Amino acid sequence: MRYLLGFRDRGAAAGLAREIAAAVVPRRRYHLMEFCGGHTHAIFRYGVQDLLPANIELVHGPGCPVCVLAVPRLDAAIELAALPGAILVSYGDMLRVPASRRRSLLKARAQGADVRIATSALDTLDIAAAHPQRPVIFFAIGFETTTPATAHLIREAGRRGLENLSVFCNHVVTPAAIAAILDEPRVREWGRARVDGFIGPSHVSAIIGSRPYEHFAREYQRPVVIAGFEPLDVLQSILMLVRQINEGRACVENQFTRGVTSAGNTKAQALVADVLELRPRFAWRGLGELPYSGLRIKPHYGAFDAERRYPIAEHATVENAACQCPAIIRGVKKPTDCAIFGTACTPRDPIGACMVSAEGACAAHYKYRRAAQPAPA
Ligand code: SF4
Repeated sequence: MRYLLGFRDRGAAAGLAREIAAAVVPRRRYHLMEFCGGHTHAIFRYGVQDLLPANIELVHGPGCPVCVLAVPRLDAAIELAALPGAILVSYGDMLRVPASRRRSLLKARAQGADVRIATSALDTLDIAAAHPQRPVIFFAIGFETTTPATAHLIREAGRRGLENLSVFCNHVVTPAAIAAILDEPRVREWGRARVDGFIGPSHVSAIIGSRPYEHFAREYQRPVVIAGFEPLDVLQSILMLVRQINEGRACVENQFTRGVTSAGNTKAQALVADVLELRPRFAWRGLGELPYSGLRIKPHYGAFDAERRYPIAEHATVENAACQCPAIIRGVKKPTDCAIFGTACTPRDPIGACMVSAEGACAAHYKYRRAAQPAPA
């Protein structure tokens, strides 16, 4: 903990803030997107935006795993939970995410479905071993940070012969989402998120390394700085981005050298490559269908694939008309642009996914900044 406190030191933060203020070009605006929900949470929690000059705007990105899961996939998980005798195992945040027709996994559980919360994918092994006669399905979501654990779960299920265990795989990959934001095929509909540089994710990058971002820096001429989650990490990364932008450079820099290397965790990458493969297309909430952006289970582990084992129908859904989550996930709008932020939609009673997870922009804004908002007239 003492080690961590060093990255939260007020004096050092004030010093970095002064360096940033001295570095910015006064008439220039800097739009910096923090891709990862962990950074969004840290920025609100530590009031990072308040330490920055007015011409630096932090844009929240799509890196909250709960927020980007398309509603039809959540609907499908609810249907899997309703299979006779089934046990659906899920990360806790997913239970309160609103599905279509005002359903959720939490409501399904209240109505009798056996939905259990796991803190690790591997918890599913013990549940499956304890209930050999019942289908046990792990609802796998998330970016590259959690993907190796799912791959390990599938391998272990095979090794232990747990034939009743399967995985409903919804893992997504970060580079595809960054490309979608920069390419923005639906500009007219949503508007374009202005992004001059990226604060790159740290946990994801610990797995995939810093190399995959080089494409964005080179092809889109956007600097990327991979940042740790502590406030000093974020401030230092912002300073590094400002310097790159001022100098007309666009390259990948690594502020989080204590956790990320250029190659990443090659063992974890090999594990994932053995078990999972890219889908040709996958639908994201807010970003739409993106090519090669989601993962599925490879055929040689097909016995553990819930999508092969059970009939899963995905039905088109309509978003709640008031909810601005899709635009917030794209970095086009802010939580306070939503007319029902903090009134009809709160963390206690969320309407959209961005209000559920601590990494969601609306939830983070509600928890740390609501008091700072002027009262409605
Ligand atoms: S405040 Fe609620 S309804 Fe509005 S955008 Fe955020 S999650 Fe959606």
